[in-house]
Amino acid sequence: MGPFFVDVSAALTLPEAGHKLAAVDRLSGKVCIVTGAAGGMGEAESRLFASEGATVVVTDVQDELGEVVAREIRASGGVSRYLHLDVSDDRQWRSVIDLTVESYGHLDVLVNNAGIGSGETDITEVTVEQWNSVLAVNSTGTFLGTKCGAEAMRRSGGGSIINISSVYGLVGAPVGASYPASKGAVRSFTKAAAVQFAPDGVRVNSVHPGFIDTPQTHWMMSDPQTVRELVDRTPIGRIALEDENARIVVDARDD
Ligand code: NAD
Repeated sequence: MGPFFVDVSAALTLPEAGHKLAAVDRLSGKVCIVTGAAGGMGEAESRLFASEGATVVVTDVQDELGEVVAREIRASGGVSRYLHLDVSDDRQWRSVIDLTVESYGHLDVLVNNAGIGSGETDITEVTVEQWNSVLAVNSTGTFLGTKCGAEAMRRSGGGSIINISSVYGLVGAPVGASYPASKGAVRSFTKAAAVQFAPDGVRVNSVHPGFIDTPQTHWMMSDPQTVRELVDRTPIGRIALEDENARIVVDARDD
């Protein structure tokens, strides 16, 4: 293993679960839903929102892991609960938003973070089933969340929606079809929603992370050659950390 990879693997060291972030309380009184929050970036975003004083509704399809995240936030002094939410399901969205508003009075922040990769390589080999399944979570999930979340925010006078796209929603991807298409859809949908909800005081932004070591990308990050190639394409010269992305997401929600 060369020194280059040693540097990179040091940068990949993530904070342990339960790691306490400095509390600032910028978000005291705010109610926030994060999707896909049982692990990876959604978990880091949930912990940071909670450490800044927000009430966080952790949602995911991995119920046991999601319950652990909410429980650990409570154990660190935060306010959090877990709710099951498959983001591609309209009815589940309505019940999560209704339950949140019934329990906490309003919804201020929604992070549409849930997303899946495809494992696709050559576009000519991608099936319609693969294409539809990725778009159902990444694009339709973001549409449904924005639709239901903005409705609730309109009723309470405003809020902030943050949609997690990807660098592959901005630039050409070297492999795959459905993932870059789904993230490009998130980008242009976010722009339309931002324009349409601005008069209601609902802000809508997209975030476009580069490469971050999470369960979704772990298969790439465990291969030194792949990591070198990814770092070569990354202006900061290393793989970013989940917490760094979480800070951008928390800042994006500013009133
Ligand atoms: P991850 O796989 O670690 O986490 C994604 C979470 O989404 C998981 O907990 C999973 O259970 C959940 N999920 C999957 N399908 C779902 C569904 N139908 N409904 C609700 N939840 C569902 O991935 P991550 O790397 O933390 O990615 C988070 C977001 O960031 C995704 O939208 C991803 O595309 C995007 N992103 C990641 C990277 C990266 O390098 N990791 C880069 C750019 C963008």
